[in-house]
Amino acid sequence: MAREPLIVLSGVNKHFGQLHVLKDIELTIGRGEVVVVIGPSGSGKSTLCRAINRLEPVESGTITIDGEPLPAEGRALARLRADVGMVFQSFNLFAHKTVLQNVMLAPVKVRGRGKAESERHARELLERVGLVAHADKYPAQLSGGQQQRVAIARALAMNPKAMLFDEPTSALDPEMINEVLEVMRQLAEEGMTMVVVTHEMGFARSAAHRVVFMADGRIIEDRVPEEFFTAPESERAKDFLSKIL
Ligand code: ADP
Ligand code: MG
Repeated sequence: MAREPLIVLSGVNKHFGQLHVLKDIELTIGRGEVVVVIGPSGSGKSTLCRAINRLEPVESGTITIDGEPLPAEGRALARLRADVGMVFQSFNLFAHKTVLQNVMLAPVKVRGRGKAESERHARELLERVGLVAHADKYPAQLSGGQQQRVAIARALAMNPKAMLFDEPTSALDPEMINEVLEVMRQLAEEGMTMVVVTHEMGFARSAAHRVVFMADGRIIEDRVPEEFFTAPESERAKDFLSKIL
């Protein structure tokens, strides 16, 4: 079944000085699709995520979200950026705000939503990530896994069309990884469009529709997980998999 395209990158190139970090990227992510991006360190995975959200400008090519090209700046950019929720390795919660305030803040400020409505929505989201009992705590009072679930709830509070996750469990102690992956799995099952950079191959196998393998700034393979993991085509992917599996 062909999916309606939601995020489309075409001919995207990006340099940092002399370093060519994204090379002729062609990538279409359909609505409701879960795409896991893997590859060696330095292959351009984070830059790709940041480019999708315009946190990083690109030199050539086009990036569209739900049919709209990303504007360079201004209010239109803020609005489109809010359509794509982003969750990073470091949770980046506001330390001096409570869990509830962290989740409510952006909808009130960026979307201009009312406080009462935002609070109701925030509590619903905290319920979904299993943290409503912690609504009035401060981030430092929570474990890393709990903080990352708050970060996910905060991103969802903007009603994004898609979510980008850049190594969301890499900074967590092993016993907290699963509670975060479980929330992500649930989101995937509910039909959220997701781009997930991760080294969690169990998640890739069980939750992803596609695996995109990057090396040296290029997309080398873009396949369904079963095929990628059982019969990788490129030497780069074979080599990478032999090191991590
Ligand atoms: P990955 O997430 O796959 O590890 P990145 O996208 O972070 O890779 O980085 C790709 C390449 O770009 C790396 O060589 C990295 O050192 C370089 N790079 C990333 N961000 C910057 C930056 N702001 N300035 C200069 N070089 C950068
Ligand atoms: Mg990275």
